[in-house]
This record gives sequence, structure tokens and C-alpha cells, in this order.
Amino acid sequence: MRRFFLIIVAILVLVLAFIPLFRQQNPARQQESGNKITIVYDNKALSGFKGSWGFAALVKFKNYTILFDTGSDGEILLSNMNKLGIDPKSIQYIFLSHIHGDHTGGLWAILKENSNVTVFLPSIFPDGFKEKVRSFGAKVVEIYEPKEILEDIYTTGVMFPVGEQALILKTSKGLVVVVGCSHPGIVKIVERAENITGENAYLVVGGFHLFGAPEREIRKIGTSLKRLGVQKIMPCHCTGSKAEDIFAEEFGTDYIECGTGKTISW
Ligand SMILES: [Zn+2]
Ligand SMILES: [Zn+2]
Repeated sequence: MRRFFLIIVAILVLVLAFIPLFRQQNPARQQESGNKITIVYDNKALSGFKGSWGFAALVKFKNYTILFDTGSDGEILLSNMNKLGIDPKSIQYIFLSHIHGDHTGGLWAILKENSNVTVFLPSIFPDGFKEKVRSFGAKVVEIYEPKEILEDIYTTGVMFPVGEQALILKTSKGLVVVVGCSHPGIVKIVERAENITGENAYLVVGGFHLFGAPEREIRKIGTSLKRLGVQKIMPCHCTGSKAEDIFAEEFGTDYIECGTGKTISW
């Protein structure tokens, strides 16, 4: 009887000693660290990188590696990625915002390096385009409606004109919205992102498409974004230098200058 009792005690001690091993240490905090967006293609570039008309960004979120758009020239895209130490084979997903060549031109060069990817594209893309993607062996997921495409990652769904989708990350600080050219309007995109998720936007990154827009309109957009709760912005690509200057003034230290080679984390 006494021996039986000792065995029970020994088992209890062992179980208690191993409990901490099974308990995950602060998983939320662990997942948030390492989340970042790196600009791999933009009109502007940090020294050592190639600047070219177009946009692409590498999104690292949770355990996902997503290439958002692909710029216009595959060689330039691969060269910039190489400089940043990004292996094309590490890309799991490619998210194409819209059909324009300055966002899709680099796709084929990436697929040549790594066809083991899933490509999220607007369903309104021509069949020939989708077929070409599949011919590399890549998987095509057609998007039309807003939806959660990966855990805590959403698409706005296709918005018009042009037929463009934006990528939404649900982070602990709020939404991070990545936009291609914002043809539907940056404010409309952010509003939609908030409606879909029920959360406020925190950071908006990408092309705001405000070339030639009058100052009054640009200031109004800045005010609207702030009203929507946007705290930080990183306007890239087709935003236009005048709009960039105005946003820099309006957002102060929460304005982040874009350019190939730049990284933003939260
Ligand atoms: Zn465009
Ligand atoms: Zn564009």
C-alpha cells in the first residue's frame, strides 16, 4: 500500500514538472513579432535598389509570406528581392490588386522561380491570364466578394472602377491595409476594410493614386482617413509628390516615406 502511494506521488511530481513545457508562452506576443511589410518595388528606391514605375511589397504576417503585387519588370523585382535577401521560394501566396501591368508585370519571373504558390486575383481577370498562371503549376484563387482568405487576412473584394482588391491584415493595433493603386479611392477602400472587419484601420500602405489631384481634395482625404481612425500612412507609387508632401505635413511623425528597400513593422 505504501509503495503504491509513493508511485502515485512520483507520477504527480513528474506531471507537475512537465506542465510548463506544454504551456505556450504568450502566443499572441510571439505571433505579432516579426510581422512586417517590405517594399520590394516602387517608383522611388533607397540607394542600392532599383526604382521603377510600379508597386510590390512583401508581407510577413503570422506564419504567412505574401507577395502583394509584382511591379512591372520581373528582373528589377528579383534584383531588389535578392538585395534584401528575400528568396522567391519563400513566397507562399501572391495577391494581385488589379490587372495593370505596373502591378502584374513581374509575376511571370516570380512564377519561374517558384510555382509552388497560390495566387489570389480578381475574378474579372481575363481567362488567358488565369490559364497562364496555372500553366506554371501555380494555384489560382479567384476573388470577387470580400472575405477572409487566410487567418486574420482579408480581401476587400473587387472594387470598381478597374476592378481592384486590397489586402487587410487584422493586427492587435488595428487593421493594416495594403493597397495597389487605389483606383476606387483610398477612402472608399479603407471604409470597406473597416465595414468588413468591424475594426479601425491603423496603417495604410501603397499607392494612393492622387497624381494631379487639387490640394483641397488631398487635404480632405487626409481628414477622412484620420476620421476613420488611420494613425499611420505610407503612401507609395502613384500617390504623387504633391500629395506626399501634404500628407507628410498632416500626419507628421506618423507619415512614413515609401521607397524600395524600406520596411515597416508594427
Ligand atoms: Zn493601376
Ligand atoms: Zn499602379
